[in-house]
Amino acid sequence: MALSDIKERIAKAEELAGRAKGSVTLIAVSKVQPLERVEAVLEEGHRVFGENRVQEAAGKWPDFKARFDGLELHLIGPLQSNKARQAMELFDAIHSVDRLKLAKRLADMAQEMGSCPDIFLQVNTGEEDQKAGVLPSEADAFVADCQALDLPVKGLMCIPPVDEEPSLHFALLAKIAARNGLEGLSMGMSGDFERAIALGATHIRVGSAIFGERTYA
Ligand SMILES: *Cc1c(COP(=O)(O)O)cnc(C)c1O
Repeated sequence: MALSDIKERIAKAEELAGRAKGSVTLIAVSKVQPLERVEAVLEEGHRVFGENRVQEAAGKWPDFKARFDGLELHLIGPLQSNKARQAMELFDAIHSVDRLKLAKRLADMAQEMGSCPDIFLQVNTGEEDQKAGVLPSEADAFVADCQALDLPVKGLMCIPPVDEEPSLHFALLAKIAARNGLEGLSMGMSGDFERAIALGATHIRVGSAIFGERTYA
């Protein structure tokens, strides 16, 4: 299990960037991983996890929540409006808010429930057709719309194109966040989290580097 190695690398990257130790939150992305691997990381004391599908998360986390204290769950994958309620009940943060209809649904639900997970708005920094997220040119307006709905917008999230230097995308996301007064930056995965930390990431989403490769059935 490579959790301690990853933590060491994070600490080193924080130091190199002149950032405070512990300023980066490691989200261990457990999607698709066998339960034994997830449990091993829980046993090591880690408590912050990410999943990309509501249904899958709903199947595995209630049981872990009953057994391990202090769990923090982040939804990092696409969210359909009709799963918004379930997502709000299960997750402490949602990183994939990418359209007004969903934002309104979450806001309505937050009113009704009297609480709301931390919200990150996804930006499609590579302007890829197949990828979720608002375009960089629409991001400022979307931030304002979500804030007007009283959503607790903590920051922005991106998934850079696979074939491009991620640092350009991290820098763009950081710039958009800064001009909107947002501190949260959800960026960086197994292959590039150190570069993300150098550019200000507050939340990195690391899966395979911790748990090993994902094997899809
Ligand atoms: C799966 C996933 C990750 C983790 O990817 P790794 O390369 O395994 O670290 C991060 N972010 C999102 C949105 C994902 O879906």
